[in-house]
Amino acid sequence: MDRRRPGGDDLDVVVVGAGPNGLAAAVTLARAGLRVRVYERDSRAGGGAATRELTLPGFQHDVCSAVHPLAFESRFFRDFGLRDRVEFVTPDVSFAQPLDGGRAGIAYRDLDRAADALGADGRAYARLLRPLVERATRVADFTGSSLLRIPPDPLTAVLFGLRSLEQGTPAWNARFRDDVAPAMLTGVAAHTILAQPSIAGAGAGLALTTYAHAQGWPIPIGGSQAIADAMVDDLRRHGGELVLDHEVESLSDLPDAWATLLDVTPRALLRLAADVVPPGYRRALQRFRYGDGVAKVDFALSEPVPWTNPELHRAGTLHVGGTRAEMADAENQVHRGRLPEHPYVLVSQPTLFDPGRAPAGQHTLWAYTHVPAGSTADRQDAVIRQIERFAPGFRDTIVAISSRSAHEVQQHNPNYPGGDIAAGAPNLWQLFRRPVLSPDPWRTPIPGVYLASASAAPGPGVTGMPGWLAALSALRHEFGIRELPDLSP
Ligand SMILES: Cc1cc2nc3c(=O)[nH]c(=O)nc-3n(C[C@H](O)[C@H](O)[C@H](O)COP(=O)(O)OP(=O)(O)OC[C@H]3O[C@@H](n4cnc5c(N)ncnc54)[C@H](O)[C@@H]3O)c2cc1C
Repeated sequence: MDRRRPGGDDLDVVVVGAGPNGLAAAVTLARAGLRVRVYERDSRAGGGAATRELTLPGFQHDVCSAVHPLAFESRFFRDFGLRDRVEFVTPDVSFAQPLDGGRAGIAYRDLDRAADALGADGRAYARLLRPLVERATRVADFTGSSLLRIPPDPLTAVLFGLRSLEQGTPAWNARFRDDVAPAMLTGVAAHTILAQPSIAGAGAGLALTTYAHAQGWPIPIGGSQAIADAMVDDLRRHGGELVLDHEVESLSDLPDAWATLLDVTPRALLRLAADVVPPGYRRALQRFRYGDGVAKVDFALSEPVPWTNPELHRAGTLHVGGTRAEMADAENQVHRGRLPEHPYVLVSQPTLFDPGRAPAGQHTLWAYTHVPAGSTADRQDAVIRQIERFAPGFRDTIVAISSRSAHEVQQHNPNYPGGDIAAGAPNLWQLFRRPVLSPDPWRTPIPGVYLASASAAPGPGVTGMPGWLAALSALRHEFGIRELPDLSP
């Protein structure tokens, strides 16, 4: 490319933030042959894909994301060849739903096996999910872009939309007779931190359940940091630079470049861009809504969790909160600004599959629970009580605890305002308007500036998709490049 640089730093692109999306954007642009520099406020790249010794030496904990349902399904990670660069282990039980009396819903990766274990409701569960599981990659492609774009496969969109409507309304129990399958579905839908039932929650839940029964929910060996490290490695091998411990306070402090991609929230964009934001766009971003938060609790354990139901030891992820009605009640209390006594708790037990993350014979446990936005409450007692309900004696296995309130989650990373780990509520309206109503929501009206974070479509999760799509938009508009850069290893 023969273009005059606007400034003296000889850069084509500046990226602010080295989370999975900032890195996906940076890698894509570097692979297109552009000179890219990434600024990150933390001392290590990764954002929500970070692994640290949070409790005791030798215990490696995932600070944010732990389980990666999109690692094999997201279009960016497929093109990037993530599974060839990072070693993953995929539990044969994607997730489990403990219930009282030692009962449990077990989401075996094999849909037929999961359905068999459900008895009377097995057929209904399989009929709900099989058409989606057979099209899992098309479900990922449909949900992995702006919903204002024409769906790549309309049949998949219709099958997915009808099922989301069914599971997202009070008719959600209509096809079931028992309480196990409904609890399994709500356990996944509740990842969205939305009131239940909700159409957006059901949609996200059905997509994740689809992947659970397709390629499973993989866990990176060594922790989520491995995903970020693979992207940093590729960026550097293609000439990209990474500047750590550098918080960007204003776009005017950045070196000149043709394009600036921001892995930040709309709130932060308004601050960084200050008076160059056109009034209409400013008002649109001010209307963007953040959701409720999470309080995170990490444990070092002397032994695995003593689940009453032994099958739970095979699950990578557990949704701990009881029945559909109990979890809906807990989530709806959070939505009304209360701390539920019996909260919904998301649990991952990585060392059962990746023992190298803890000293021999010992374990880590990753958990979080939903709380009202900005809550300063320490939720470790509530989390321990809920796990004890299905694993009596759990308390006695605890060696050390690291607990962070929603407020502290935000202090750790400003991309999670009030502890909102989705960087913007993933409600129905904001599935279309993320962060603005546009088929190219990554491009801002500020010349050369793009929003590349989970606050932009398609939204949260370690997928790389908002970053990749922002990079493709910048390539098209700023550099006249329409072909997709080859991202393969
Ligand atoms: C507790 C928790 C659990 C989660 N669990 C999962 C899970 O199991 N699976 C999953 O897929 N997802 C999970 N997520 C969500 C996932 O981590 C995020 O959706 C994802 O990391 C978003 O990527 P991002 O690049 O948009 O933002 P982030 O990962 O938040 O990265 C943003 C980066 O930008 C940096 N930054 C921000 N502002 C500036 C600035 N002004 N200057 C310089 N740098 C800046 C930040 O330091 C950060 O490194 C979880 C998140 C949390 C917090």
